[in-house]
Amino acid sequence: MPMECIFCKIVNKLNQAEIVYEDEKILAFKDIKPQAPTHLLIIPKKHIPSVDHVETEDKMLMGELILVAKIIARERNLNSYKLQINVGRPAGQMVDHLHLHLLGEEDKSSSSPLAAARVSK
Ligand code: AMP
Ligand code: ZN
Repeated sequence: MPMECIFCKIVNKLNQAEIVYEDEKILAFKDIKPQAPTHLLIIPKKHIPSVDHVETEDKMLMGELILVAKIIARERNLNSYKLQINVGRPAGQMVDHLHLHLLGEEDKSSSSPLAAARVSK
């Protein structure tokens, strides 16, 4: 782990973060400067600096990031959301540890299928 990597420090619990999901390979936590009512970062525990550094051996891991995003979005009743990965400084990448932004807003309307299921429980 690169000692200077802030996200590796979060993975190794050396820095605090509001963790919302964790498994063997993936961690998700709240963005410190949210750009949406729900703004989470989903990261591989493995230090991969950016999408530009993804290798063929990482293809399952990349798919798992998307699946975790879907699981979290469902848990939080996000019927609509954006997934974003910035690659390189000009595109806005500030942290050199691959991360998937999950941006959305909880759907509280009773007409949403997920909210309706919740009420009927
Ligand atoms: P990017 O600009 O795509 O590299 O995104 C980096 C994101 O990490 C930004 O949205 C920051 O607000 C967020 N961030 C930076 N440091 C932390 C931290 N310690 N905990 C949570 N989020 C962070
Ligand atoms: Zn890292």
